Amino acid sequence: MLHAVNCFFLTAPLKRCIQEKTKREAVSIRHSNIAIFVPHNGCPHQCSFCNQKEITGQSLQPHAEDVRSAVETARKSLGEKTRNAEIAFFGGSFTAIDREYMLELLDAASEFVKSGEFGGIRLSTRPDAISREILDILRSAGVTSIELGAQSMDEQVLLMNERGHTAQDVRTASGLIHEYGFSLGLQMMTGLYGSSAEKDRYTAAMLAELKPDTMRIYPTVVMKGTRLYELYKSGQYLPPDAEQSVPLCAELLSFFESKGINVIRLGLHDSGSLRESMAAGAFYPSFRELCESRIMLENALKIISTQGISPGKIIVCINPKSISRFTGQKKSNIIKLGKMGYEIKIYTDDSLEKYEVVIDNTAELNYKRNDVIY
Ligand code: SF4
Repeated sequence: MLHAVNCFFLTAPLKRCIQEKTKREAVSIRHSNIAIFVPHNGCPHQCSFCNQKEITGQSLQPHAEDVRSAVETARKSLGEKTRNAEIAFFGGSFTAIDREYMLELLDAASEFVKSGEFGGIRLSTRPDAISREILDILRSAGVTSIELGAQSMDEQVLLMNERGHTAQDVRTASGLIHEYGFSLGLQMMTGLYGSSAEKDRYTAAMLAELKPDTMRIYPTVVMKGTRLYELYKSGQYLPPDAEQSVPLCAELLSFFESKGINVIRLGLHDSGSLRESMAAGAFYPSFRELCESRIMLENALKIISTQGISPGKIIVCINPKSISRFTGQKKSNIIKLGKMGYEIKIYTDDSLEKYEVVIDNTAELNYKRNDVIY
């Protein structure tokens, strides 16, 4: 942490960054999901990329007693925090499943929400499986959040990946979800068959216009047993790898955050079955970290370029919670900057924003040891 007492070591830009910023009290209430997977149920289409069984690591269909037992288990570990928890049905097209089965699952979850013990119910579904009738049912069951798998807003990409819905379906469903007062989550994929960085940016821009409360971004991973796998094997499709996907996803992450949209997931969850069945694509267990480090590196490079900072000793000032974000995995950012000739000393200041970087190369480098993190 950069203490006020040390400010005299700093030149004007760094002093300003510390003095002009008001400390923000970050009060965060931790939200949790009790995830219940309803794999590949209710899907009227077989999307090119989807192998839900492998993604969720589960093929059994849960029933009411499984919902109750999952919630009871979570209750023990969450204690009083259950009020911030949502019972979440993920993995398929929840609102397109057999109506009786959907009501069985909803009723089981609903008991815990209506008693006031749990915060709500979250579910994921397809954009074309939303209607007023469905939303009425969901509202009376205590559903609070609905996530739509939009994946792309480019009609050609939707068609080529056999999604079976249009971009307009995403707009219509999102509008209805807002109108009913549910929290709206949207999911998009990058690097799909027939897509490009430009089309993925377009998708992000179109989705941001729908004002989702949350976003999930998934770079495409080719799973065995899917249409994409056949296309990949026959050489008709080559998905972007992690190295190609990180700069784009970092840009999308920044973009959504700049619009005040919370990106709650970036990259697929790691699981043994996912690793076994993936054949290609941008899977990396800590994909989000890579993207966040990329944002910080780019912010540093932007400052170096716009301020014309020459190679040599520099002081970099960042938020204390962003140290590993800035240094990067295995100090990759420090190494990159080092190769460009920059010898870096890090100061921290908790009034700086998450990705904010302040650089000074004119400060007296007579720092005290404790002020220097790296
Ligand atoms: S709608 Fe969703 S769950 Fe169903 S096949 Fe497509 S991606 Fe998979």
